[in-house]
Amino acid sequence: MLTLTRVSRRYGDTVALDGVNFTVPENTYMSLLGASGAGKTTLLRLIAGFEEPDRGEIAINGERIDGQPSHLRDIGFVFQNFALFPHLSVSENVAFGLRHRTHDALKNETEIKDRTEAALELVGLTGFGHRAVSAISGGQRQRVALARTLVCEPRIVLLDEPLGALDANLRARMCDELKAIRERLGVSFLHVTGSETEALTMGDKVAVLADGKIMQSDTPDLLFNQPMNAEAARHL
Ligand code: ATP
Repeated sequence: MLTLTRVSRRYGDTVALDGVNFTVPENTYMSLLGASGAGKTTLLRLIAGFEEPDRGEIAINGERIDGQPSHLRDIGFVFQNFALFPHLSVSENVAFGLRHRTHDALKNETEIKDRTEAALELVGLTGFGHRAVSAISGGQRQRVALARTLVCEPRIVLLDEPLGALDANLRARMCDELKAIRERLGVSFLHVTGSETEALTMGDKVAVLADGKIMQSDTPDLLFNQPMNAEAARHL
């Protein structure tokens, strides 16, 4: 379980996060819904360790992770723009994290190959390993980005607007696949989006973030039928 307690972060005069209390339970698909500027990306960056909170605590299963270097947190991050290496093949992109992790880089080529193939199979890209990233579709790039994250077996996976770059057809397919992959792995996904439909259809639970505060965190049914206050309702 991931827990944020009274987490705050400001940039100059801008308060990006203001005393956020937030929990992502084990084995859960969690949606985080918020308008542009609500603080969604900041929240993910603090969890991943790309930045530190000014105040508050972040813990996994009771163990503090704030202050720990990013690479020791075992948290996966799928970036909105996929952030793949265009000059590397699909396999090389997926294997990159395994080869170059600073704390436990793998040296055994057979293990790297086996884990890379298993990750590609998980995202439905068996047989695509040799292809150039520049020669595959947007949906396939999204899957490569996911495989590259999952191959490192993270404790939790953060997805920053993962469907934002996909067209409507692909988006619907990726929704189903993301849920199926998460269920198969049994880890929690935290999926950030500005789309109410996406948040409500994807999440086992949905949290609403507005002006740097969590307004409500509930099942989609409860959130839809009993929004906690006008601010939360405004986002539904
Ligand atoms: P979007 O969906 O547009 O990406 P968001 O919900 O992810 O929005 P954040 O990117 O977390 O929101 O930004 C929250 C607030 O903090 C915004 O007002 C933003 O301008 C500000 N902010 C974020 N990062 C920085 C930074 N590095 N320097 C200054 N201000 C920042």
